[in-house]
Amino acid sequence: MQTNLADFIKHTREGKEADAILRNCVHCGFCTATCPTYQLLGDELDGPRGRIYLIKQVLEGKPATAKTQLHLDRCLTCRNCETTCPSGVQYGRLVDIGRKIVEVQVPRPLGQRVLRTALKQVLPRKWLFTPAMKAGQAVRGLLPKSLQNKVPPKQDAGAWPSRQHARKMLLLDGCVQPAMAPNINAAAARVFDALDVQLVIAPGAGCCGAIRHHLNDHDAGLKDMRRNIDAWWPLVEAGAEAIVMTASGCGVTVKDYGHMLAHDPAYAEKAARISLLTKDLSELLYEFDSALQAKLNGKIGKRVAWHPPCTLQHGQQIRGKVEGILRAAGVDVQLCNDSHLCCGSAGTYSVLQPELSYKLRDDKLANLQAGNPELIVSANIGCLTHLQSGTATPVRHWIELIDSALARA
Ligand code: SF4
Ligand code: SF4
Repeated sequence: MQTNLADFIKHTREGKEADAILRNCVHCGFCTATCPTYQLLGDELDGPRGRIYLIKQVLEGKPATAKTQLHLDRCLTCRNCETTCPSGVQYGRLVDIGRKIVEVQVPRPLGQRVLRTALKQVLPRKWLFTPAMKAGQAVRGLLPKSLQNKVPPKQDAGAWPSRQHARKMLLLDGCVQPAMAPNINAAAARVFDALDVQLVIAPGAGCCGAIRHHLNDHDAGLKDMRRNIDAWWPLVEAGAEAIVMTASGCGVTVKDYGHMLAHDPAYAEKAARISLLTKDLSELLYEFDSALQAKLNGKIGKRVAWHPPCTLQHGQQIRGKVEGILRAAGVDVQLCNDSHLCCGSAGTYSVLQPELSYKLRDDKLANLQAGNPELIVSANIGCLTHLQSGTATPVRHWIELIDSALARA
């Protein structure tokens, strides 16, 4: 596609990146067919090709309007369009750049500003979010359904392993997951302990930066990223083999630190190394396959529906690994119809775009439950909580299944 970027952006780092991405798009529209919001709304501007066109117009100097902002807000950033695109258009990066400019040009109504500020200030801060979640859990039964959907019942994490191992890996504790589902990281630590690897949480590390970045506060997102690098670096230098991600939404972001901080001379090299060391849980356990299977010995034997989060299958392009690990452990893993589509969680999307989000959730649950599973498993805290809010079928992180099977072994 031909471009003619406006002077305000043409010579900037982001302008050059956006220009290169736009030029790769041949406007074929293949991506439109797999876009969840286009499928729901049937408007070209609610699909990737239309959004790319809107962003191009803004970058070429046409002032953004509230309508431009609405179509960009409705995008889930699921990146399904990237998987479909035959020309390798990096839509996710382009929409980040476009949204940031539109955010400056189009003032939001007061209600939206308050909500977005609250999300940016509270979610990434564990010291604010954890007590708020605890208070919500204490009165969960009295909360309206819309809030109950965001407040999972209190969960027992079980014991953290106490054995020391020579092999060590870092584990990102994150921001909201420890308060909402503390068993996930504890389960991961127990599974790695059984494989003689110690998972270590670095003091000072926290939110990966995705929340603020996707709410268009890129500077605050970068601050979160630099803080994590500072917290991890001494342990990386001391020989930590990997940085383990139990939430695919965090994993896709940390794997991108190298790109996000490439312009920062103080952090560029470290960020690139951190990204290289970062692995989704499934990538690491897939490598431990035979050792894990020897311990599990086909013990699980459940019928399970697997929901691969967009941040895993599209963002990180990881497919088949969780299914492989579970199948080898004796699980009857079902991949549902339209498994490439987003469940509607998408970070803060379920709060900011509830109507579309819940429609996508209900469609996803209908597909997941078509095979009558005993359990639904996924790999991201947002998807787990969102899906569980619409079904009585238990929804768990897949590592919890492996952990409970190891406990019985
Ligand atoms: S993003 Fe890719 S699939 Fe979509 S219109 Fe452009 S080239 Fe075609
Ligand atoms: S990221 Fe997802 S919702 Fe956004 S345009 Fe691409 S496919 Fe559609």
